[in-house]
Amino acid sequence: MLKPALEPQGSDPALLDRLAAIVGSPHVIADRDSMTDYLVEPRGKWPGSAHAIIRPGSTAEVSAVLRLCQETATAVVPQGGNTGLVGGQMPMDREIVLSLRRLDRVRAVEPMSNSIIVEAGVTLARVRDEAEAVDRMFPLSLASEGSCTIGGNLATNAGGTAVLAYGNARDLVLGLEVVLADGRVLRGLNTLRKDNTGYDLKHLFMGSEGTLGVITAAALKLWPRPLDEAAAFVGLRTPAEALDLLALAQKQAQVTSFELIPRIGIEFTTKHAGARDPLTEHHPWYVLLDAASSTVGGAAADIGNVLEEAFERDLIGDATVSASIDQRRAFWRLRESLSDVQRLEGGSIKHDIAVPLSAIPTFLAEADAAVERLIPGVRVVAFGHVGDGNLHYNLSQPLGADQASFLGRWEEVNAVVHGIVTRLGGSISAEHGIGQSKRDLLPEVKDPTALALMHTIKQALDPKGILNPGKVLQR
Ligand code: ZN
Repeated sequence: MLKPALEPQGSDPALLDRLAAIVGSPHVIADRDSMTDYLVEPRGKWPGSAHAIIRPGSTAEVSAVLRLCQETATAVVPQGGNTGLVGGQMPMDREIVLSLRRLDRVRAVEPMSNSIIVEAGVTLARVRDEAEAVDRMFPLSLASEGSCTIGGNLATNAGGTAVLAYGNARDLVLGLEVVLADGRVLRGLNTLRKDNTGYDLKHLFMGSEGTLGVITAAALKLWPRPLDEAAAFVGLRTPAEALDLLALAQKQAQVTSFELIPRIGIEFTTKHAGARDPLTEHHPWYVLLDAASSTVGGAAADIGNVLEEAFERDLIGDATVSASIDQRRAFWRLRESLSDVQRLEGGSIKHDIAVPLSAIPTFLAEADAAVERLIPGVRVVAFGHVGDGNLHYNLSQPLGADQASFLGRWEEVNAVVHGIVTRLGGSISAEHGIGQSKRDLLPEVKDPTALALMHTIKQALDPKGILNPGKVLQR
């Protein structure tokens, strides 16, 4: 077990001066008000406490900062757009926050090799725009794309709504530039599709949540833009029917997203987010299906064929296919507002689980019964990337319940739901990572040999334990 002997932060009064000499004094932020932006995370669950925010403007500056932190045994928390959902980007104990937002250059766009090289602080939305400007597509798709950054997306191996067709963030990467804990720079920004020269080190850093190195730039894969895209909003009776629809759709169409939405999700979004119910009748469950095609009009035609057969087999109750780009966007706005609207219904206890696809109906049946036994009247809002076997199994407090006492049962509820997930061979963190949130749960669910190897790798790459201490692994 790693036991870093770190200096208490702020014990060296000259440290901030030395950091300012590297990044320039305007980029050392130490007053409380200006730090707020970096110390409040989206869930309001892990308040941050930092000695200072350091904003380097280049890889060389990141390297110099880490060399200094290594020398002075100063703990560092790397941070991108501060949109993470497990507290991984939050300093816990007056560490220094290393904000990568100023590393925001696009270094190269190469449509011929279907690649783009961007620095860590470039937002996901901008990468997508840059790709589109050269008639290409970068498929990573998250509701936070306007503010999350590529460095954070890769450090957390983000998932999102396009994993079904294109994979997780780590699958979209050709090469990385990473600054190590001692300030050395690992220069791996190649755009090769094939490079079989030993250990593929880039994958160590993706999903490490800033505990093994700081990603400063990435060479990303681009894809040809599909000629046509369309979406369908489908009403059905059960999650099992959704899985049958998925199998049918994947046979007949190029399915890029397949998202499950419960009736209560439609009620929340129509009430709080101004969404319009896409279907006239009410259904217990809905699927938002997105498809692409390489022929004009092909996506809608393929979806039409899928739905026709699904009706014939009595798999679905009703469906509507997007007739315009605006309508497709409206479907997606409804889906993407699902996370936010739960806040307006009181307390919400979250899970980010995955189980094998075939176990989705069993998981839902067992978990629904278990949480109702624990908290009668609890409102289950189970939604998300069912095509990947990944659900955000969130629980809104019973109507009229006391928010604080409901949220006080977070761990107890998690334990019951995670118990079912583990029994079904699933994961307790499908796409959000471990951070602070699930660090102490990891030893219970991870293979002991895998966990021991994780500690070995951490020790080898960060022997002083200065990189994001207390995240992912227990100290
Ligand atoms: Zn998600």
